[in-house]
Amino acid sequence: MAERSIPLVDHRSIGRVPRVPAAAPPPTGVLLDTRQRPLRDLRISVTDRCNFRCSYCMPKSVFDRDHPFLPHKDLLTFEEITRLAKVFIAHGVQKVRLTGGEPLLRKDLDRLVAMLAGLRTAEGRPLDLTLTTNASLLARKARDLKDAGLQRVTVSLDALDDAVFRRMNDMDFPVADVLAGIEAAQAVGLGPIKVNMVVQRGVNDHEILPMARHFRGSGIVLRFIEYMDVGVTNGWRMDQVLPSAEVLERIGREFPLVPLQANTPGETAERWAYRDGAGEIGLISSVTRAFCRDCNRARLSTEGQLYLCLFASQGHDLRSLLRGNASDEQIAAAIGHIWQQRDDRYSELRGSAQAPERSAKVEMSYIGG
Ligand code: SAM
Ligand code: SF4
Ligand code: SF4
Repeated sequence: MAERSIPLVDHRSIGRVPRVPAAAPPPTGVLLDTRQRPLRDLRISVTDRCNFRCSYCMPKSVFDRDHPFLPHKDLLTFEEITRLAKVFIAHGVQKVRLTGGEPLLRKDLDRLVAMLAGLRTAEGRPLDLTLTTNASLLARKARDLKDAGLQRVTVSLDALDDAVFRRMNDMDFPVADVLAGIEAAQAVGLGPIKVNMVVQRGVNDHEILPMARHFRGSGIVLRFIEYMDVGVTNGWRMDQVLPSAEVLERIGREFPLVPLQANTPGETAERWAYRDGAGEIGLISSVTRAFCRDCNRARLSTEGQLYLCLFASQGHDLRSLLRGNASDEQIAAAIGHIWQQRDDRYSELRGSAQAPERSAKVEMSYIGG
């Protein structure tokens, strides 16, 4: 029988059952971790499946036909997700991003969007509700998502050249369909749209300038993400990381750029504007300029594990509370306790002697980006 590669760990079986403190005060809307970072941003993965096999995220050799994706009964239901979202909002979350895997593969996602769009922050404002997608199904779904209350989308696109793009998604998926998805999102008003490009030296760095030229002046913000050592399956190497400084230099040589202020505290992207007024770009320098100091993001996996860092090896099993009849107050107390213990800052420590052993990092497709 042919040997087949398997994930080094089954990262999905290691969530801790959270402790529920007996006499926790009710949420105040401001929850700080050990580094005084508030909880503001919740990323919810709605599926661990994807129709792409980007090699930096779900390499085919691991995520093949025999890969044990989660059975439907293990996924949080829309009702469970909404219930948890409410508790997170009580603790101060203002922004919710739906992700995956590929979130548009989750059946009836617009129903979840409508449920989340109905929630209000402590100040009575609607959530900042957004979605990250590979856009393969966006042309078909943009209208329903908008009507359900989604505000905007972020689209992942790593190249404009069709051959390069097909090779990178490893499913021979054409770039034209992604561009059609972006157009449809623009047409229905799911903006301002962001486009994320993961840059890998020697793989798609020659696409930086064509991408910049294409999206300049379109109202779409193109953001360049440094290739990260997330998960354990992608065979990450430092020499494949193209530092953002180099992206800036390459674009700046053709189109002069000036720095912009951050929109919000804890924003992942450094913003730069084209001096001629043709819009802006973003640089997400997770490897060369860590931004853990302001990291206010929590991640909820498809099966209800709470992760405090993209590079965490263990989650906290909120689903066991949901399905074990815990009250909202008990769930709020447990989340409060977990966040107050949070000390994660993996990117700051990467490569240093203090860096934790990360042989069992969770996969990006499981907790979302
Ligand atoms: N499937 C959706 C998509 O691709 O937009 C959502 C999930 S995907 C895991 C979220 C984001 O993570 C994408 O923008 C993707 O490019 C990014 N990503 C995945 N693996 C990465 C890596 N190793 N380094 C940097 N970004 C990565
Ligand atoms: Fe799928 Fe997104 Fe991962 Fe690519 S980056 S394999 S589209 S989940
Ligand atoms: Fe946040 Fe962890 Fe990324 Fe640092 S490494 S910015 S703590 S998710």
